[in-house]
Formats: sequence, structure tokens, C-alpha cells
Amino acid sequence: MSRMLYNEDAYLQQCETRIHALHAGAVELEATVFYPLGGGQPGDSGWLLGPDGQRLRIGDTRRDRETGAILHLLEAGSQAPPAGSAVRVEIDWARRHRHMRMHTCLHLLSAVVPHGVTGGNLSAESGRLDFDAEGVALDAEFIQAELARLIAEDHPLHMRLISGTELAAQPELIKTLSVKPPMHLPQIRLIEIEGTDLQPCGGTHVARTGEIGAVRVLKIESKGARNRRVVLGFAEDAA
Ligand SMILES: [Zn+2]
Repeated sequence: MSRMLYNEDAYLQQCETRIHALHAGAVELEATVFYPLGGGQPGDSGWLLGPDGQRLRIGDTRRDRETGAILHLLEAGSQAPPAGSAVRVEIDWARRHRHMRMHTCLHLLSAVVPHGVTGGNLSAESGRLDFDAEGVALDAEFIQAELARLIAEDHPLHMRLISGTELAAQPELIKTLSVKPPMHLPQIRLIEIEGTDLQPCGGTHVARTGEIGAVRVLKIESKGARNRRVVLGFAEDAA
């Protein structure tokens, strides 16, 4: 299993490593900074630089469901260097940083809207959460103002590891749970936004809420009788 460097430091943009194995249209590395699609966050894209000066495009990153291997998907027709080759990989940082900003903002959104989260997704342009909020009228202006306040307050994020048993014994630690955390694992990663939010999460986050920048509520819509969907975008994209 490759070392998942993005778990330790989400700000790593590149790493030197070796090709662990070749798969159909994909390479598996000994260590990687590429986040694989999961938890509503897209997989990273970027480049693989080979020993002979090759520069191959990595279009997406996925986790193999069966083996857990992290697969860096190469553009069709790319000839990957053989297994064992020393390579350098670089993520498309501009895109990933937007994922980190929006992902962290969705944690804030889950703290601002006091209803259970039933789903969510994000891209480099927008993010959304669905709330179990039957009969509730969510106020876009209020939500946007609260997000702006939490971003301006520049709360730091902290990461810590907790066992599944500890987590099960303290359900009050978890305010929102769209997906059950993997309680069977010896260690579950908790992400705390100081004074604001605490939940198990495997995604990539910015270090402080101020780094999210200004965001807007793009729309609030009903999804069935119970679900209300809140869609966010970056203020800088509104022109
Ligand atoms: Zn997260």
C-alpha cells in the first residue's frame, strides 16, 4: 500500500517516489501526494515526470475498491516507465487548493446549518451539502453571513487520530455524519475547526478558515420532501 502523504500534509504539491506497479492505464506509486476520489472530493490531476524526461498527464486519481491501491490514471496512449522506476509526481495545485478551500467551507456549512447532512459533493468551482430539513426554510443570506463570519474569524484546523472504540464511546464528538466513519479501523482521523466543528474526515483541508476566502450561497433547492440542498461558490468567480 502506498504511503498517503496527503494525509500527513495536504500542502505537499509533489514528491519523489518509485513506481510500485503498473495497472491498465494507471500507475501505483510507493508514495503519493495525489488524493483519490472520495468523500465527495474529486481525485487529483497533475503530472508524472519519468526518468527519461517524460512528462505524462495524470487525469484523475481513484482508489481501487478491492485492493485499496491508489491508481493514478494516465491519459490514453501514455507509455508509463516500468515498475521500479524513480519518478516525480506533481499535483495540479491550483485545482487541488480550490478543493481544499471548498471542502473546508463545507465543514463550516455543516456547522452553520443545524440539520443532519444526507449527502454532499464538491468541485473546483462549487460545493454542496444536502440537509435532512423537512419543512424548514433555509435562509441564504443568513447562511452566507455566518460563513463570512467564520471565515473572517480565521479559525485554525487541527487533526488528531482516535480509535473507533473511543469514537463510538463519545458520539457527542460528531455533529454531522453523512457517512458512517470506518469504526473498525484502529485509527480514525478527526478534523477540528477550533470552536466550530469536529468530525471524522479523510479529505484535504486548508490550515485556517481565512484561507477559504469569500464564498456565496449560489442557491438553495428542495430535493424531495425532506432534503434541502445548499450550493456554494467562490465570490471571486462571480463576474
Ligand atoms: Zn473534511
